[in-house]
Amino acid sequence: LNGMQKIMKKTYLFTPGPTQIPPDVVLAEASPMIHHRTSEFSEIFSNVSEDLKYIFQTRKGEVFTFASSGTGGMEACVVNSMSRGDKAIVVSGGKFGERWAQICETFGVNVVNVDVENGKAVDPDVLDDTIKKEKDVKAVFVTLSETSTGVVHDIEGIAKVVKGHNLLLVVDAISGIGVHPLMMDDWGIDIAVTGSQKGCMLPPGLAFVCVAQSAWASIEKSDLPKYYWSFKKMQKALSNKTTAYTPAITLIMAAGKALSMIREEGIENVWSRHAKLAHATREGIKALGLELFAGDASGNVLTSVKAPEGINIDSAIKKLRDETGVTITGGQDELKGKMFRIGHMGYVNEFDIVLAISAVEKCLHENGCKIELGKGVSKVQEILVG
Ligand SMILES: *Cc1c(COP(=O)(O)O)cnc(C)c1O
Repeated sequence: LNGMQKIMKKTYLFTPGPTQIPPDVVLAEASPMIHHRTSEFSEIFSNVSEDLKYIFQTRKGEVFTFASSGTGGMEACVVNSMSRGDKAIVVSGGKFGERWAQICETFGVNVVNVDVENGKAVDPDVLDDTIKKEKDVKAVFVTLSETSTGVVHDIEGIAKVVKGHNLLLVVDAISGIGVHPLMMDDWGIDIAVTGSQKGCMLPPGLAFVCVAQSAWASIEKSDLPKYYWSFKKMQKALSNKTTAYTPAITLIMAAGKALSMIREEGIENVWSRHAKLAHATREGIKALGLELFAGDASGNVLTSVKAPEGINIDSAIKKLRDETGVTITGGQDELKGKMFRIGHMGYVNEFDIVLAISAVEKCLHENGCKIELGKGVSKVQEILVG
């Protein structure tokens, strides 16, 4: 790169986390530090906690804010709701579904996997059959948006099955919240978790765990080891408008701004904006003659695309990032080299999608892929204008 390109380079994140952050949120995070045992912080924190209830669509549940990445919040869900020797059904079908199983196994919870083919959504009837076949199941762990494959699972349908058997339902909504509907109260979800750096338009560093009243019987009984992650301690602190330990103060200030933006736009409008942008992205990709990795199961968090033949997709993506700042991602683990993913969650608008698709065109074209330049962009424009 020449000097000017280096100095002027912009970063365009189309990654499935972290995501782009609105300037006002960046400014909020740059606020001077305040002390957390003050009425000033308590007011900010209780507003954030209320706004979090709104994005989880709960009135009666509570949302606990931990200083950690999303995975910390997942671990908190397991250690607070389960006991040693309990049996849990985990819906796999990607890296993040598998993470539930790994966390459960780490703490001595017995795991029954419902294996779902990569790129497919789980059939709630298959889950129903598994619950019937297994005896003494305590809980079902699922993922709203499986970020490794781009699949969105039918949580409403899954919840009907799980509630029909009176089991605990725990949802990893880390990339799904603020993109796809998740109705904590209406669907009867017991515990759901998200992280700050996906649809919430925040930097990484916060995990938000929503706990319904219905989860407390299991929480009271849970005997797995926990100290920092204790929901009971968090609940007590929340009733005093604070956290149990030093919160990530400026991240919470930033959350105040980001969540109020979501509230102002209206969560239904946020969902439909994502649906429209995702639709345009998928159609743009198809117009280039490429194939969606997750087909009909594709969610609105990201667009996963099968890598075209004869191209080293990972090095092509790396070159694009290094030269232009446009950042998309490849596949993880066994999907490495087989696909690429365009994230479009959070602070994303129509022209971001035009830019992302034009960058994909450039990247494929420069690496010897036979595509017609502009064909994807023109399809995207047609959809977004129309
Ligand atoms: C990003 C993500 C995680 C992991 O979150 P970290 O913040 O990296 O710990 C877990 N599940 C899903 C579905 C995700 O998208």
